[in-house]
Parts: sequence; C-alpha cells; structure tokens
Amino acid sequence: MIAAETKAVAAKGYATHGPEAKFAPFEFTRREVGPRDVLIDIQYCGICHSDIHQARAEWEPMMPSMYPMVPGHEIVGRVSAVGSDVTKFGIGDIAGIGCFVDSCRECPSCTGGIEQYCVKGSAQTYNSTEMDRKTPTYGGYSNKYVIDEEYALKVNATDDIAGVAPLLCAGITTYSPLKRWGSGPGKKVAIAGLGGLGHMGVKIAAAMGAEVTVLSTSPSKEADARKLGAINFVNIKDADATKAAARSFDLILDTISANHDYGAYLSLLGLNGVMVVVGVPTEPTPLNAFSLIGGNKVLAGSLIGGISETQEMLDFCAANDITSDVEVISPDRIEEAYDRTVKSDVRYRFVIDMQNA
Ligand code: NAP
Ligand code: ZN
Ligand code: ZN
Repeated sequence: MIAAETKAVAAKGYATHGPEAKFAPFEFTRREVGPRDVLIDIQYCGICHSDIHQARAEWEPMMPSMYPMVPGHEIVGRVSAVGSDVTKFGIGDIAGIGCFVDSCRECPSCTGGIEQYCVKGSAQTYNSTEMDRKTPTYGGYSNKYVIDEEYALKVNATDDIAGVAPLLCAGITTYSPLKRWGSGPGKKVAIAGLGGLGHMGVKIAAAMGAEVTVLSTSPSKEADARKLGAINFVNIKDADATKAAARSFDLILDTISANHDYGAYLSLLGLNGVMVVVGVPTEPTPLNAFSLIGGNKVLAGSLIGGISETQEMLDFCAANDITSDVEVISPDRIEEAYDRTVKSDVRYRFVIDMQNA
C-alpha cells in the first residue's frame, strides 16, 4: 500500500539512452502522490510512431530528444492511490493518460480547453519536463505514473483495455480534426496512411457517418480497410487508380509518417476541399501554390486534442464500440515493434503489456 502524500513512488520502465541505443530496463521515481494526484498502475501502453521519431531523434532540431527517454503516451491502467482532494477517480478505476500531463492552466488555450496549444508549452508525457521545466517526464513504457487528476481521462472498464490504450493518442488525433472539419453524412473523407492513426481515422469517420476511402501504399491492406469501415481503397502507387480519384474528396486526413508530396494528395480534393496534416514526416516538403489555389483548397494541421475533447472521444468510441486493433507484446519486443512499424507491418497498433514490468 502506497502511503499517499508521504513519499516518492518507485517506478520501473524501459528507456533508450540515445538515437541508436537499444531499450533497456530503467528504474526511476515518480513524484509523491500530491493532494490532487492519482497514482496509476499502468496496464498497457501503445507504441505511437511519434515514440519512434523521438526515440531515434528524427525530429531534431524542432523537437529535441532528451535521454534517458522512456517513451509512451497511450496509457491505460488502474488507479491504485488517490490524493486527499481527488474527486474524479477512486481506487480501482481505469484511467488513461495521453500526450501531455500538465499545462499552465492560465493562458487562453488552457482556459479554453485546448491545453495541447498552451502558449507557455504544456508538459509532455515524456521527452519533456514538468511545468517546473526541470523535472524530466518519463512515459508509459513503465509500470506507474503519478498525474494530476485533471489531466487524466476516465476509461469505462471494458474487456478490451489494451484496445483502448491507442485511443489516447491515435484516437484523439484523428477524432479532433475529423469533427472540426465536418466529417459526417454526405461527406467523402479519405484517410491517407493505414497505420495506427489511419485505422482509428477510418473507424471514427465511418462511425460519424462519412463515406470513407483509404489512400494507401500497401495494397495488401485493402480487405482490412473495408472491414474497418472504408467503402473504397486507392493504392496510391497505382497511377491509374490515383488519377481516377482526382478531385473526389471533401476532406483528407493525412496520417503519413514518412516524407511525401502533399501536392499529389491535394490533387485528390474537390472544390473547397480540406486536407488536414497530422502525420509529422522528418523532412520539410515543398509545396506548389497551384496545388491549393485552383480549387480554393485548405491545407490545415492538427495536434492531438484537449482533455475535454479527449474524454468526449473516449465516450464516443465506447458508445460506438470502437477500440484499436492491437498486437499486444511484452516489453522485450519494443525494438522489433519499432522496426515493423517503420515498415508499415503493423495491424494496426503495437501495445506493450506493462503488467509484469
Ligand atoms: P504508423 O502506424 O507507422 O502509420 C503510418 C502509415 O503511413 C503507414 O502505416 C503507411 O500506411 C503510411 N506510410 C508509411 N510510409 C509511407 C510513404 N513513404 N508514403 C506514403 N505513406 C506511407 O504511424 P502512426 O503512429 O499512425 O503515426 C503517423 C504519423 O502521425 C507519425 O508521423 C506520428 O509522429 C504522427 N502523429 C501526429 C500526431 C499529431 O498530434 N499531429 C499525433 C500522433 C502521431 P500504408 O501502409 O497504408 O501506406
Ligand atoms: Zn502519439
Ligand atoms: Zn497554458
């Protein structure tokens, strides 16, 4: 039994010590459970491609990598201790943690419920610091997390807790822009890239009532795309199929992790169409203005979602029976999972079982 409010919490995780280092067991402490904190015994943590980009220092200099790094921001677990002022959670509840664990709480973004855009910079779940800008944050490839209850999410106990974990990043990152840009009945929505984010995008857009198409480089994923809720599938390596899809979509959600030509995808938008970029390739991409101006098109971006919208997404997914399709692995298989994810060989999210870490 943890004595809340009296001592730091010993945690065990898996860390990488450099861009080319292998993951290895890592012991560290979490802060003591404060009055507004909950202690979460982590059960599952998804592997997001952002983990790979950061563990391998692929986003520098825009997003520097700090080592040792314990990645992981798709976290679900059971609450095992609560501070004296906690009201949202009780011991035994299932809770989730997404991509950030604190923010300034005062700026217009924070008071407006879009804490991910905190003007002072929110505290990321890992590869970051607490708001004191000193204490490093370590992520969910670990067995325990201490977090202010306001930044934790309520997860309804379901049989598929492992499948809920990826909703905390892949789910909200696709839900938020799909909702904002009008995915729904009568809308032709294309999801570019059928990976962790993409497969959630297909399920969520279909549940919103949109007509969904998958734009993929992997023809072997066509049957899956249709099972996930897509009506159409375009192999974008097939020039004829891609040409036939020109000017046909209202909205494209670009989840692609590797460098690609935005112009080629923008050509698939109809008049007034919108392409929202959520994938973060490692290199800048040239863009010809003609790709946008001819059809009065919009090229937009979107970063995860705020706490209240993340809760809304979890409730939407629970109501629509949506979880992620996962392959559960033990922590000693992180490297293999990274390599397979980079090769687009994941159906459709690796999730690490942290219960025996
Ligand atoms: P993932 O599971 O690896 O999926 C990426 C997909 O991109 C692949 O499955 C593949 O789909 C497609 N792809 C890969 N290489 C490609 C290429 N050269 N050309 C075209 N398509 C290619 O990754 P993820 O976890 O979904 O993350 C996707 C991206 O979103 C990453 O860059 C990640 O960092 C970023 N991200 C952003 C946010 C945000 O808030 N904006 C949040 C989370 C993640 P096909 O096999 O179907 O072609
Ligand atoms: Zn992520
Ligand atoms: Zn703020």
